[in-house]
Amino acid sequence: MLYCTAPEQLRELFPDEPRYRTNQLTEWLYRHPVLHAEEMMNLPRSMRERIAPQHWPFTLDIEQSADNGTTKKWLFRCTDGSLIETVLMGYSSRTTLCISSQVGCAMGCTFCATGQFGFDRHLDAGEIVAQVAYANAYLAETPLPRSPERVTNVVFMGMGEPLANYNATIESIRRMIEHMGISGRSITVSTVGFVPGMKKLIKEPWPVNLAVSLHSTIPSKRSKLVPINDRYPIDDVIDAANDYYETKGRRVSLEWTLISGENDSDEEAIGLARIARKIHAHVNIIALNPTPLSHDKPPSRDHIRRFIGTLKREGANVTLRDTRGQDIDAACGQLRLRADSS
Ligand code: SAH
Ligand code: SF4
Repeated sequence: MLYCTAPEQLRELFPDEPRYRTNQLTEWLYRHPVLHAEEMMNLPRSMRERIAPQHWPFTLDIEQSADNGTTKKWLFRCTDGSLIETVLMGYSSRTTLCISSQVGCAMGCTFCATGQFGFDRHLDAGEIVAQVAYANAYLAETPLPRSPERVTNVVFMGMGEPLANYNATIESIRRMIEHMGISGRSITVSTVGFVPGMKKLIKEPWPVNLAVSLHSTIPSKRSKLVPINDRYPIDDVIDAANDYYETKGRRVSLEWTLISGENDSDEEAIGLARIARKIHAHVNIIALNPTPLSHDKPPSRDHIRRFIGTLKREGANVTLRDTRGQDIDAACGQLRLRADSS
């Protein structure tokens, strides 16, 4: 599969073609991607025919549309049959793509559909970056209403823990920045608090954003929701987030999935605000999107408002993330859950 070879090595796959041909191919794969190899107009027909069967590392299994066509959700089937999800969201000033980094996830967060499934395998760098290329190829043909016609922002908030698949994640980011023209400042890596990966990310050359999924400030509660807290305790996670901010000068965001009766108390809001102030972080609240394998529910609207009010009063910088595509099972891993059970 062509995306599974680094752009710099593509030449080795076409030893008989002159160098400019593989440069042209690189442009078609990364800078101006197209859905079908026959659209690679400046390549000879014989080369296009060779490319077609190895063009994408996956096929489209299901496409769903929501929010008046401003949200698209894709379920891709990889060559080994694994299923991964990608969600495209159009806003007036940006087009954001939410991508997967693993098939399943080993972290086992209780409220997450991907976690409930367990871990299958890592995605290859090509399978990660091809999700962005596919979205750009799609947008070139079918732009979302009133949104930029290219992916402007990438978030690693689909299936998987990107920092547990470190090398592939980093190589995919490198290709987005060096070959697709996406700025590091527009890429967000979301982590459950995988401390070794956070420390390595600090040393990378790009100014990517870091989002840390906290969900509780009370260690015993956090261990219940996010079992990896036993291995990488919250204090170490916060220290690594603070190092990231101080070294990179990029504000970290703290993600908090609000679950009724679990992590929506005043005590939690006060604890969260204290951490956010200490490390100059921004807080992102997201109401739980219920998953079929858990009885957890999101709090009521009023309760969410109250939690956010407490955070603000305690001096935290906070936004309520919109839950796009609820009617199409857009929560992490849910589309795959449905495809598997049908
Ligand atoms: N593994 C990484 C990135 C993928 S999950 C991480 O955990 O950060 C991306 C975000 O989706 C996380 O903040 C996670 O807490 C949130 N999430 C997972 N399941 C959810 C659900 N059912 N409802 C709302 N948010 C969810
Ligand atoms: Fe994995 Fe993130 Fe889901 Fe936790 S929330 S199980 S780390 S994908």
